[in-house]
Amino acid sequence: MDIEKTLLRKTGEAIGRFEMIRDGDRVAVALSGGKDSVTLLEALLLLAKRAPVRFTVCAFTIEQGKFLRPIEPLGEWLRSRGIDWTCYHDKPSFRLLDEQPDHGCDLCSRYRRRAVYEVVTGLGANVIAFGHTADDFCESFLRNAMFTGRLSALPPVTMSGDNQFRLIRPLCFVTEEITTAYAASLGAPVIPCGCSQKTGTVRRQIRDLFAGIEKEHPNLRQSLLAAMGNLQPDRLLDPRYHGMDLPATPPVLFPVLNDLVTKL
Ligand code: SF4
Repeated sequence: MDIEKTLLRKTGEAIGRFEMIRDGDRVAVALSGGKDSVTLLEALLLLAKRAPVRFTVCAFTIEQGKFLRPIEPLGEWLRSRGIDWTCYHDKPSFRLLDEQPDHGCDLCSRYRRRAVYEVVTGLGANVIAFGHTADDFCESFLRNAMFTGRLSALPPVTMSGDNQFRLIRPLCFVTEEITTAYAASLGAPVIPCGCSQKTGTVRRQIRDLFAGIEKEHPNLRQSLLAAMGNLQPDRLLDPRYHGMDLPATPPVLFPVLNDLVTKL
């Protein structure tokens, strides 16, 4: 399999299907230090040379004090390839780390979001590209269904709250097998985030669940991805899709039902 060809085909398919990129866009790629976002950056740079729409690409990283190694080798590698990269040392995130070392993802991502919008405004970009992969979509889909009582994953394309930026996830059809192999072929330095080492998280449990089932059913993630693009709402329990003027089943019902079942 030609990894680059597959990567570009799947990325191009997502961009086209969800109209992620338009003529004259300036796309800022959020580089997290991992294999996925660097693969996304490279894919967009290659597509920018051959796509029928004209767009430019730049990259940025928000340093929040969570990298396990210095980020500079990534900067050197990017500069050696002539890539326009900005590294933003977010002081409020470092203060947060000092004051509340055990803060959760909600606070961390809120700080990151503010920093992202600040940086991207300075870069003159109108589109922000994130490296969430097909694996992230599948995990998010399962996590939401099992723990929040909602059938949803991640938006492939959406607007920021103030409508200033289009947020896109062009790797939604690209699995991590592809990003791992492609990033390795580029020789890109991977700078791990401390959070990726955590054990016992729901994310880790879902990953382990996939790995277990995929030993016997290797197409599990492809099937889940297909399911996300092929809804049959009349076979679900949302009254709004059965011609009834009723609100959606409240997610809070699920813990209540679980309580009842365990008491029987
Ligand atoms: S996983 Fe770590 S870096 Fe990511 S949002 Fe949560 S706390 Fe922040």
